[in-house]
Amino acid sequence: MPSLPECRSFLSEERERELDAADDEVYAIDARRVIVYVNHAYVAFCEQNGGELGACGLGVSLIGAITAPFLKRFYGEAYDRVFRSGEPWRSRYLCHSPEETRTFDMSVEPVAVDGIVRGAIVLHHLRERGEAPLGPVEPREYRNASGFVRLCSVCRRVQPPNDPSWIWVPSLLASPAGTVSHGICESCEATYYDELP
Ligand SMILES: [Zn+2]
Repeated sequence: MPSLPECRSFLSEERERELDAADDEVYAIDARRVIVYVNHAYVAFCEQNGGELGACGLGVSLIGAITAPFLKRFYGEAYDRVFRSGEPWRSRYLCHSPEETRTFDMSVEPVAVDGIVRGAIVLHHLRERGEAPLGPVEPREYRNASGFVRLCSVCRRVQPPNDPSWIWVPSLLASPAGTVSHGICESCEATYYDELP
């Protein structure tokens, strides 16, 4: 196993200092798609959003950490393209919290050493933030008869039982608590399936 400094040798000290000071959340991955660098803003974001650094920090396999198969494929193929072509890739995603809506721009910038892509810097820029996503004010049952809450595995909208719509339920964004079954809402389906070749 190469050591961490070896794995991130594609990052110059100067670039690392620059990224350390950035307001945007940044991590870098090596050619195995393993996270080998995280900046302060990323660590702070993880902590504020209840993420475990053991699950989203250094040494974590980016693709391995994705549970939904279609997302694994979407990101797996996107990173393969970046490493193969040496071309950057940009994407946009939603990451709402119970308090506010958030849209992030993600950019993946390959870093080549001697003509070979050795790693990539992944920047997450908060593009827009808004009011909390409004769920229905009326309390209602989100669990089906078996006790499962059905969540979109991408954006975490909820599909109530016997209802085809997908809605934001702020209290369930924070901690769905208990048993969850995963699906994909129409808007995420359009984004993640249509972009696939
Ligand atoms: Zn969704």
